[in-house]
Amino acid sequence: RAKEGGRGAYRFFKREMDETIRERRTLARELRQAIIDEALVVHYQPLARAADGEVCGFEALVRWNHPTRGMVPPLEFIPVAEENGLIAQLGEWVLRRACADAASWERPLRIAVNLSPLQLNQPNLPILVHEVLVQTGLSPKRLELEVTESALFKDYQRALDNLRRLKALGVRIAMDDFGTGFSSLSTLQSFPFDKIKIDKSFVENIHRHDRATVIVRAVLGLGRSLDIPCVAEGVETQEQIDFLRGEDCAELQGYAIGRPAAVDTLSAWTLASKAAASPPSVVADEKA
Ligand code: C2E
Ligand code: MG
Ligand code: MG
Ligand code: MG
Repeated sequence: RAKEGGRGAYRFFKREMDETIRERRTLARELRQAIIDEALVVHYQPLARAADGEVCGFEALVRWNHPTRGMVPPLEFIPVAEENGLIAQLGEWVLRRACADAASWERPLRIAVNLSPLQLNQPNLPILVHEVLVQTGLSPKRLELEVTESALFKDYQRALDNLRRLKALGVRIAMDDFGTGFSSLSTLQSFPFDKIKIDKSFVENIHRHDRATVIVRAVLGLGRSLDIPCVAEGVETQEQIDFLRGEDCAELQGYAIGRPAAVDTLSAWTLASKAAASPPSVVADEKA
């Protein structure tokens, strides 16, 4: 069958592939320019203390304000940036922007910034983070860096060494998307993370699939035993909030708490304090 497709199929796939490569090149070129033009924006999504619903921090989530395509989500350009080394520049820009924004907030809320695998393997990362903290005046204890376990795999020793040096600065390290990697438990064993973020693929199935419910409960138990606070990602319903509260989850993040939004709309958020309270109508947050 594959043979029947023969040269025609090959030509078809080759054309498709050329197209993909061309698209990627265009994207890379535009992205390089976007960084120069400051066409990237950082949106902020609130994290709330589960116990009382008080907003206790924000996660910085990058978007690309593209001239013709509108707001491009990170999953469409982070991989491109990873591929051609642009991620170092991009990541540094996001870190600087997020720390500067957070330093200007009245309340000393925590700010979480995502690190890409490539960044985590850069020998000068701790120096860069230190520099940004000094330049922006943000206290290290307000900064939380989120890493996924895939970030540890490229050069395990280097990554762990960087994480240790970052912790020595007083910065907190969170394990992002917990449970979706290949060896979440051994990663957890190798490094004293300050926080576990339970991936939304489990959270969204609370009360929908018995197994997911059991897994979330078990991860929360694990966190309790290891003395590592857990955050549930992707919290969308009151039912999930009630369950997670009941199971002593420390923090909640998700559309039920608040969607990512531009920085100039945040003052309302920082003042608002109840989980699941609907955002003030003036807040121009991201819609579904
Ligand atoms: P993440 O770090 O796990 O971030 C959470 C993602 O879940 C965000 O998607 C957020 O908008 C989305 N989300 C939050 N609450 C809900 C909810 O209730 N329901 C659903 N369905 N989704 C929710 P986003 O902004 O598209 O970011 C996707 C990923 O891109 C992030 O996943 C992170 O890994 C990466 N990313 C974002 N910003 C940066 C950055 O500055 N640097 C790097 N290296 N990666 C970034
Ligand atoms: Mg994250
Ligand atoms: Mg996450
Ligand atoms: Mg996730």
